[in-house]
Amino acid sequence: MTPRGLDDEVAAVTFDHDDESVVVIVGSGAGGGTLANELCQRGVNVVLLEAGRRFKTTDFVNDEATMFEMLSWLDKRYTAGDTPLTTEWPTLPTWICKTVGGSSVHWAGHALRFRPHEFKPRTTYGAIAGANLIDWPISFEEMLPYYERAEDKMGVSGRGGRPALPGNNNYRVFARGAERVGYRDYDVSHMAINSVPHGGRNACDQIGFCMQGCKSGAKWSSLYAEIPAGEATGRLEVRAECMALQIEHNARGRVSGVLYADKAGGHHVQKARAVCVAGNSIESPRLLLNSASATFPDGLANSSGHVGKNYMRNMTGFVFATFERPVNMHRGVAAAGIVRDESWHDPKRGFAGGWLMTTCGLGLPNLASFLTPRAWGRSYAGLLEHFDHMAGLWTCGEDMPMTKNGITLHSSEKDQHGLPVPIVHINEHPNDRAMRNHSYRRASELYVAAGARQTIEVPPVPGSHNLGTCRMSEKASDGVCNRIGQAHDIPNLFISDGSQFASSFMGNPTLTIVALAVRQAEHLADLLRRNDT
Ligand SMILES: Cc1cc2nc3c(=O)[nH]c(=O)nc-3n(C[C@H](O)[C@H](O)[C@H](O)COP(=O)(O)OP(=O)(O)OC[C@H]3O[C@@H](n4cnc5c(N)ncnc54)[C@H](O)[C@@H]3O)c2cc1C
Ligand code: SF4
Repeated sequence: MTPRGLDDEVAAVTFDHDDESVVVIVGSGAGGGTLANELCQRGVNVVLLEAGRRFKTTDFVNDEATMFEMLSWLDKRYTAGDTPLTTEWPTLPTWICKTVGGSSVHWAGHALRFRPHEFKPRTTYGAIAGANLIDWPISFEEMLPYYERAEDKMGVSGRGGRPALPGNNNYRVFARGAERVGYRDYDVSHMAINSVPHGGRNACDQIGFCMQGCKSGAKWSSLYAEIPAGEATGRLEVRAECMALQIEHNARGRVSGVLYADKAGGHHVQKARAVCVAGNSIESPRLLLNSASATFPDGLANSSGHVGKNYMRNMTGFVFATFERPVNMHRGVAAAGIVRDESWHDPKRGFAGGWLMTTCGLGLPNLASFLTPRAWGRSYAGLLEHFDHMAGLWTCGEDMPMTKNGITLHSSEKDQHGLPVPIVHINEHPNDRAMRNHSYRRASELYVAAGARQTIEVPPVPGSHNLGTCRMSEKASDGVCNRIGQAHDIPNLFISDGSQFASSFMGNPTLTIVALAVRQAEHLADLLRRNDT
């Protein structure tokens, strides 16, 4: 049953292009969609520009390939750097969405908080050669109330008195292995998936295909949780299929509006009192770089030279295992088990930072494309034949920010809007490699302890966690924005997505993106009230 309100049409407000009182937000995903709703709840009028289409939950189908085509950002991008991604995924460095709701439509739902020390990586880990580490300009204590509000709005299971989700078969295998290798900190909590009805959304019905869009709305997404709530205030206009091309500024160096292309290719400028960039960590810096002008020749907010730098994607890897009896890893919640025993900073392991193991129940199309091209021929076909006997997990840990990792603009190739195509530079730090090798070893041991006949290590695929290309910093020379995401250079320009991360931490970033958006809305609404931007 679709809960009332999930796909309901809301009478839309419209704002004039010349209305200078609105805040324009670019991107309607986890960051932008949440910020839009939170600003509207505080009486601010918002125009939300979103490059992708708006779907209803009834449009979702339980088919990985179809939903990938429907939801993903497939405009041209290039991969560069020293990792196998450059040859294996040369035009698909990232797995990001282009749709109202952004990647929060595709996401799996793991919702984890930073640990206190993870806001202070430079202090905790010390200087690491080749890494451009800084501490965050905010602390865990400051973030705590916003984490609690984000968890409540998202209905995170196992938190706030809500029960954990039930474990599926993939989790039972995972938990048996975890127990046998001596792990103690594992369960099915910290998921932004309703274990009980919450926030006007259903409880999870355990059908699976969570990463193809949740048909029941049990999984939090800005598409049906934040955006309709914002629209219901009469203060939010969502303009879908509208691609922001350039942020404009006035003679005082304040941003004044956004040039965008609508569905038919028509160009418009939406005037704005403030602009918030939430296009995810490739498109946000790309938009700032594409907004270069005579006043800002290196792009907006880029006096430090940090726009597009320090890109992070978390250390990741998959381990699959075949078992004598069927597992059917794709049934039930796709990724709902977690082992946290390795998530602490323990330099004795030979690397800085921590990592997590989570269950990952892929369907056959995704498994087949992730196994290729490393596996081929008889062994590859044999693995696919044993799909129903396979269990799967994903490892995710803190990766190091490096100046050379980031986004640059292609010197000659342009997209359909005439904008330079982005090149995503991905190089691996030795710390990331050491952590991944440790995670492969421990994950394989877990599956062997659970009775695996064979284990298969699969290297990283296009990044679904994209972070850090407009990072926040105490000193303006170290980053792009300050502790509330406000650009150091331009007081009415804000970074409102994962781009503002100063480090990647051991886990999945979206809870922190949402908590930061709630916090930013509070500060921005206050600045607007005081006329102080
Ligand atoms: C398959 C998958 C599984 C994931 N699982 C997890 C998980 O379990 N836990 C977790 O924490 N995270 C997970 N993530 C990551 C999570 O989805 C992202 O961290 C989060 O959605 C990022 O939020 P954002 O606001 O930065 O960007 P997004 O949610 O990606 O939103 C950005 C939006 O901006 C739009 N946009 C970009 N440029 C422009 C422009 N110029 N004009 C107009 N619109 C523009 C895009 O179309 C997009 O809709 C997963 C991601 C994927 C793809
Ligand atoms: S199993 Fe996944 S897709 Fe199905 S209701 Fe639960 S969260 Fe939604």
